[in-house]
Amino acid sequence: MRYRICPECAYSTDDVTQDTCDYCKSDLLDCCPVCGQVFQEKGTIYCSRCGNKLRISWVPIQ
Ligand SMILES: [Zn+2]
Ligand SMILES: [Zn+2]
Repeated sequence: MRYRICPECAYSTDDVTQDTCDYCKSDLLDCCPVCGQVFQEKGTIYCSRCGNKLRISWVPIQ
């Protein structure tokens, strides 16, 4: 399973066709911007390969 995550809030989705966050309208990431690792866990905060922090916050923006 691949996930897309929002770098601004806690949103993540397994819908790989979705490009923007439902909450804050940021562009979703489909892989780590540093090393290109894909996200295989829903709710990823740190990249599993390089340890890059992928989110500004893990609290959802209301
Ligand atoms: Zn968001
Ligand atoms: Zn990475």
